[in-house]
Amino acid sequence: MANESCIFCDLKDSTDPNSFLFDDEYVFALRDINPRAPVHILIIPKNHIVDVSRVRLEDEQTLSHMFAASTEIAISEGVNETGYRLAINKGKDANMTVNHLHMHLMGGRTLGAEG
Ligand SMILES: [Zn+2]
Repeated sequence: MANESCIFCDLKDSTDPNSFLFDDEYVFALRDINPRAPVHILIIPKNHIVDVSRVRLEDEQTLSHMFAASTEIAISEGVNETGYRLAINKGKDANMTVNHLHMHLMGGRTLGAEG
């Protein structure tokens, strides 16, 4: 279900799928517009889930597709061997800026400790 005031729902509906780094029935992926690492990609479910605390058991396909996408992207971006981080933020203290669940894939340099 789309949310009319959500930038990620808008992107999903208005962007040519060929420009996504990954696109399947459940998720799409694109580069973060403010990258904090040489590789910084957002993996976004197509259905509108507000944040990680709203994930329910029936979202299992969505979640597994997010992780499967992350592996494919890590390989295609050349960071699978050197390593990368997957991060999901929730709420203002975690600096979540779009209220639509998404996972950050970051790599391409040595990353500091979380937080
Ligand atoms: Zn949304």
